[in-house]
Amino acid sequence: MRVDPVVIVGAGPAGIAAAVQCERLGLEPRLMDRTGVAGGLIENAACVENYPGLEPMPGPKIAERLREFLHRFGLGVERHRLIRAVARPEYFELELEEAVCRARCVVLALGTRAKKLSCPGAEALEGTRLFYEVRAVSKRRGDGDDAMVIGAGEAAFDSALSLARAGFEVSLFGRGPGPKAVGRLRDAVESHARVKTVFNASVESLELEDGRVLARFDRGEEGTSRVRADVVLASLGRHPRRAGMLVEKDRVLYEVEPDEPLGSFVVGDARHGGLGQVGIAVGDGLAAAMSAASFLRKKQNGR
Ligand SMILES: Cc1cc2nc3c(=O)[nH]c(=O)nc-3n(C[C@H](O)[C@H](O)[C@H](O)COP(=O)(O)OP(=O)(O)OC[C@H]3O[C@@H](n4cnc5c(N)ncnc54)[C@H](O)[C@@H]3O)c2cc1C
Repeated sequence: MRVDPVVIVGAGPAGIAAAVQCERLGLEPRLMDRTGVAGGLIENAACVENYPGLEPMPGPKIAERLREFLHRFGLGVERHRLIRAVARPEYFELELEEAVCRARCVVLALGTRAKKLSCPGAEALEGTRLFYEVRAVSKRRGDGDDAMVIGAGEAAFDSALSLARAGFEVSLFGRGPGPKAVGRLRDAVESHARVKTVFNASVESLELEDGRVLARFDRGEEGTSRVRADVVLASLGRHPRRAGMLVEKDRVLYEVEPDEPLGSFVVGDARHGGLGQVGIAVGDGLAAAMSAASFLRKKQNGR
């Protein structure tokens, strides 16, 4: 079986940056993503205003720019989900959902996965009324609908803004005494006419009642609040999809240890352990490509 020089798994900003840099260095990279589409998590951002050199723009527009960037270098994305990467003496064996491939270097740019709500009723509503990424919700027409956002961090605030701009009437519920989001984003949400924020509210249960979601919140001394909405977005933080550490339904998905000498690199949010920034992910991807090139050069020279 052919051994590819570099396989990059995950086509978010980190993987895209790694792929283009590898291509520029003549390494003929393969880029894969379980969705078959490049872009990654940034598709969810209301407005990205901190990427140096770019004017502020919505996340989906950044993702579109990243796809154009790949095309400019003649690169595409193969649709594959990585199940397992095993280090053999001379190469990595990548077990994909419906295939196997081998690579001298592997760059794991797998990003993060959402922390799930664990209250009664959550699992049953997931995917129809309860979502963990705003892009899934904003595909619905928002006009006049009520959306509930659970969470009080940067991503929760950002998502509340996206939903309000899409026409939803948004109520954001945080467990703690106040917002964790700060600065311009916090100001934008708090001054938006279609967003209401409620704190010291811990979700107890979700259920469907007359076609809408009924949520019960524990409000401490104020007792229990019952709130209804058409759709719920939970934004409770994210777990890194990190090599050797990701356990999903009691199954270890990846057996590669980060940065082991064979030529494996873990980059972007997966490496940093939670929600990061596009600029950091891109820098990581570039650095991994440079390291992969140097690793392959040394191998070729017998060192
Ligand atoms: C609401 C929101 C707003 C944000 N706003 C900003 C902002 O304003 N500015 C900013 O800099 N950053 C922002 N971010 C953060 C930014 O989106 C991330 O830091 C960035 O996308 C991380 O890039 P990444 O390539 O490491 O991972 P990701 O973008 O998460 O990409 C990982 C990719 O790996 C793929 N993948 C996962 N598992 C597998 C598998 N087993 N096999 C194959 N493929 C797999 C996924 O499909 C995905 O495409 C925001 C994030 C959110 C959620």
